[in-house]
Amino acid sequence: MTPDHPAAQPAHASPVAEQLQRGFPWLRFESGLEVQFWQDQYEQGLTQLRLNIVLASALVLAFIAMDRMVLPEGDGVVRFLRYGVLLPALAGCLIVTFLPRGRRWFHPVVSVLAPVAMTAVVALVLAAGARGAETVFPVVVLATIFLYYLVGLSFYGALRTNLVGLAAYVAGAAWVDIPVPQTSYQAMVLFFANLVGATVAYNLEAARRTSWLEARLLAEMADRDGLTGSYNRRRLDAHLLRVWEQGVREQQPMALLMIDIDCFKAFNDRYGHQAGDEALKAVAAVLARCARRPLDFVARYGGEEFLVVLYDTSRDYAAALAQQVLQEVRLLRLPHPTSSVSPVLTVSVGVAYVVPVPGRSVDGFVQLADEALYAAKHAGRDRAHVMEKEYEQLRTGSFRISATG
Ligand code: GH3
Ligand code: MG
Ligand code: MG
Repeated sequence: MTPDHPAAQPAHASPVAEQLQRGFPWLRFESGLEVQFWQDQYEQGLTQLRLNIVLASALVLAFIAMDRMVLPEGDGVVRFLRYGVLLPALAGCLIVTFLPRGRRWFHPVVSVLAPVAMTAVVALVLAAGARGAETVFPVVVLATIFLYYLVGLSFYGALRTNLVGLAAYVAGAAWVDIPVPQTSYQAMVLFFANLVGATVAYNLEAARRTSWLEARLLAEMADRDGLTGSYNRRRLDAHLLRVWEQGVREQQPMALLMIDIDCFKAFNDRYGHQAGDEALKAVAAVLARCARRPLDFVARYGGEEFLVVLYDTSRDYAAALAQQVLQEVRLLRLPHPTSSVSPVLTVSVGVAYVVPVPGRSVDGFVQLADEALYAAKHAGRDRAHVMEKEYEQLRTGSFRISATG
């Protein structure tokens, strides 16, 4: 089958599957997936994240205690960095995680506060180093590692923050006259700590992104029909129930289109089941193309039958959509010499249009679409039939066995 043959088009496009296929060497997803990914990461790791921030605060307190031994009095700037910048920055990160809109705000907040806190750490270490206490230098290395793995920063966020820290260290060391050989040695240590930290952080984030996409794809697939990619019966039943209840509450008109391929048994008999499967995929792709409003829902009802659910629709829209489906299936021009209605593959469409009322079940609505389909078949196939008024007379529960198979 050629790629431009309609039957070769997927019935639905999954941004998740496309993203997995394209890859993400720059650690960025397209469109809404990126935001969703970070919000999910944040939510899944929230307890651990809070613990990490508390741990970071304990480390900072220990650091301040040691620092006070080196600089007992501390000047105004040092005191400000300890108590006016470093501790409030950590407290700020922790507080955001308890806000109701924390998942929205955590990343923007931490990507501002982290470089500020890192710069404060560097300044405090330099202030101690300038007074001869070079032994506090490893605190900068510790902070670097912490930023890569433990404060919920993205790879880029951590890299940016640590490059700010490295630059601040080199510039600050020159400013406070730390001897050049010592600064060079420490800058080299920091550089390699960053290289190792960034490499592992990159691989970790790539692995987390892959498993997030795979988990989402799996969840999507559980809702889809394996052959056509349309929603499956399980998802359809859940969807129907949900929109029906919403329709009853909001008194919104709804429509169902039941689509059944004409003389499909004969098609299978003539061309084989594999060709039949390709035809099913082609019809599913037509439906996905036609039902394009955000809430339009296409599912494989069973065998060679599909159901389109339209919420908050007009009768005219539903009827026009049915005509469009009929036309586009004809335009597939899939030869069907053994059809009793047309030389090409065709479908019949039953349309049920109702305003849901309390006390009626969604089953009656489906039954009405089934009746409409039967009427379309009976009238000669390759056509649509709309039922709406009949709903009043319909006795829910008295299902006639479908003559359409
Ligand atoms: P009508 O115009 O009245 O709908 O006639 P029909 O032949 O389409 O209806 P019938 O119910 O007699 O046959 C339906 C056929 O659909 C029978 C079955 O082989 C075929 N079918 C159902 N599911 C699949 C499928 O997944 N793949 C293929 N290839 N065929 C299927
Ligand atoms: Mg059929
Ligand atoms: Mg059928």
